[in-house]
Amino acid sequence: MTTSTPTAYAVSPDSGEHWSKEGAWRVAEGIHRIPLPLPMDGLKAINVYVIETADGLTLVDGGWAIEVARDLLERCLRQVGYGFGDIRRFLVTHVHRDHFTMATVLGHEYGADVALGLGEKPALELLNDPTLDESPFLDVLRTAGAHEIAELWAAGGGERPDMSMWILPDTWLDGDHEIPVGTRVLDAVHTPGHTPGHYVFAEKQAGLLFAGDHVLPTITPSIGFTVPPTPDPLGDFMGSLTKVRALPDLQVLPAHGPVAPSSHARVDELLAFHDRRLELSLAAIADAPGTGFDVAHQLAWTRHEKAYDELDLFSQGLAAMETKAHLELLVARGQATRQETEAGVLFQAAPTSA
Ligand SMILES: [Zn+2]
Repeated sequence: MTTSTPTAYAVSPDSGEHWSKEGAWRVAEGIHRIPLPLPMDGLKAINVYVIETADGLTLVDGGWAIEVARDLLERCLRQVGYGFGDIRRFLVTHVHRDHFTMATVLGHEYGADVALGLGEKPALELLNDPTLDESPFLDVLRTAGAHEIAELWAAGGGERPDMSMWILPDTWLDGDHEIPVGTRVLDAVHTPGHTPGHYVFAEKQAGLLFAGDHVLPTITPSIGFTVPPTPDPLGDFMGSLTKVRALPDLQVLPAHGPVAPSSHARVDELLAFHDRRLELSLAAIADAPGTGFDVAHQLAWTRHEKAYDELDLFSQGLAAMETKAHLELLVARGQATRQETEAGVLFQAAPTSA
């Protein structure tokens, strides 16, 4: 799961500065990284990547549609000789607000094409459902056994989102395919897991991977924080990591954190991390059944090995959902059984798995 602390001192090689420092940092010939602020968010910033072509710009991700980020994006584009009117296309890695919403707003204002993975359509349709009377995440928390957290989340908000930020994209990305960007060719690779419709974009010629939140250099992307829920998000995520591991070793251009040298090295670390969490989760349900919420209490969280109760309320919710995702994968592998109850989904180690 995510935490702000490890990235707080991370220097990016393109800038020689902390990765979130303002600027249009040159990553490669014709490619700039512009970190945009995420106030109120532990992730600190999101990297938007600007790809120059002879007839305008393609941006990978757009940032969160807030005034301070919009002003900063305009200022940084100007530093490299461009304005919003030069943007032809947004390739958005996934539907989360810090990636998608500014692309939507600017795309509609300036007539740029906004492309997003088809797997995100159910989430957008759910957000646009006029009969929605509470946050759809509350039910996900309840099935993870986190009833108190669901109540606190409900009390802490629940107003309908600004729907002008959540309109459908112009283009749905479907399957794996090549996207020409000027003289470059990007391989659009469907990488479900963090969200069902997540995409990464590989430019093999230049050795670059626009990784979105799929491969992050210093933190692990949250798993299970999606609506409508999918049956096995961790299984999807690990399958997508294996898929990216089969690409050539590429420089990682992440959405959060500094540029990192090796996609292979980082994917191996992420797979090992989740294998270890799966072992610990299985051990936690060996003798008695438990929900995601129960098992999350028995695990340590963040790089600082915090106890569950030391996490903030939002992170506690994410942790319960992510632990449920680990337990669901144990079920899919035949190592555990599941039972739906009033208290949430109860998991127990299968008798043969000891
Ligand atoms: Zn993100």
